Amino acid sequence: MSTERIVSAAAVDPDEDRRNVALRPETMDRYIGQRALVEKLRVALRAAADRGEAMDHLLLHGPPGLGKTTLAHLVAAELDANLVVTSGPALTKPAELAGLLTKLRERDVLFVDEIHRMPVALEEYLYSAMEDFRIDVRVDSGMHARTVTLRLHPFTLVGATTRAGLLSGPMRSRFGLQGHLEFYPPEELLLILRYSAFRLGLRGASDSGSKASGELDGALLRLAERSRGTPRIANRLLRRLRDFAQVRHAGVVSAQACDDALALEGVDALGLDSLDRRYLKCLAEVYRGGPAGLEAIAASIAEDAGTLEQAVEPYLLQAGLLARTRRGRQLTKRAADHLGVDVDPPGGEDGDASADALFEG
Ligand code: ADP
Repeated sequence: MSTERIVSAAAVDPDEDRRNVALRPETMDRYIGQRALVEKLRVALRAAADRGEAMDHLLLHGPPGLGKTTLAHLVAAELDANLVVTSGPALTKPAELAGLLTKLRERDVLFVDEIHRMPVALEEYLYSAMEDFRIDVRVDSGMHARTVTLRLHPFTLVGATTRAGLLSGPMRSRFGLQGHLEFYPPEELLLILRYSAFRLGLRGASDSGSKASGELDGALLRLAERSRGTPRIANRLLRRLRDFAQVRHAGVVSAQACDDALALEGVDALGLDSLDRRYLKCLAEVYRGGPAGLEAIAASIAEDAGTLEQAVEPYLLQAGLLARTRRGRQLTKRAADHLGVDVDPPGGEDGDASADALFEG
């Protein structure tokens, strides 16, 4: 379900990220936002370069679509090293991992996406690889079983995860550098969109990063505000807008074209789609604003609770439209205003302190 949504933060199909390669910043200077993390990386890269060593292993965590893979590419580019890309679920056997690790050259970067989904049995192989740059592989079995130690070139592992909590303690502690990626404010998404508009050759776009023509810039700002803090969504909406403007607005990308294109996609002024609105409306109308349990809401709108928790709630929480209290999910005043509904204010018999705080804030 979530994979079909235009506002899904994960890639909607395997080709999407391939098409996005052209939009990816090529240097650290072009990477927008995440300033504290980028600064930390600059120091680590500089220190590694000065010592002529591989950079510390790096764990990046945060919601999908915020630029973890992009950062891994940039780290490798700054190190002037190769990047080898794999993912937790793709690694199933020790031999596959050993194959990847032994092919790495000095100071190369191994990027493991969704590292929390790597089989536990492989973790201990990775530990010795990360700590001592060696890997002990068992060969043969039974009486002839023996362990062969393979020496590796010093390398940097960059692990990415959307679920840092699912990573084992020992695994996490082996990353010398860790960084959390935050949602982007609209001003930063606007900068990303200006760059993308330029790369996609939109009429009115000027060279990367600088302001586009008034008409285009108005449209880009509107997109930025509806992209749920996520560059991947911003770039996807921009492509849809480009198509729409070409077919319906004679190629002119204006605020009006943007509104029309998003209306057609069912995306509203806050970047919510019909599933988000169904969730909020259910909470408002069926549960009078809550608190209500996730399972109850899921049953009322005939959706899977896991999908709602992973693909719907994070943005609603982030946007201050939903509060999670001890007693369940609670609609906020902002959400009630957005839906144009009146709900019982929490804090009476049904409310609790944390919901009150959110309502007043
Ligand atoms: P993740 O690995 O966190 O899911 P990606 O690195 O694949 O996210 O980023 C998704 C898309 O968003 C990429 O195509 C990239 O071009 C764009 N993007 C992400 N972060 C930035 C950024 N800080 N500046 C410019 N573009 C970005």
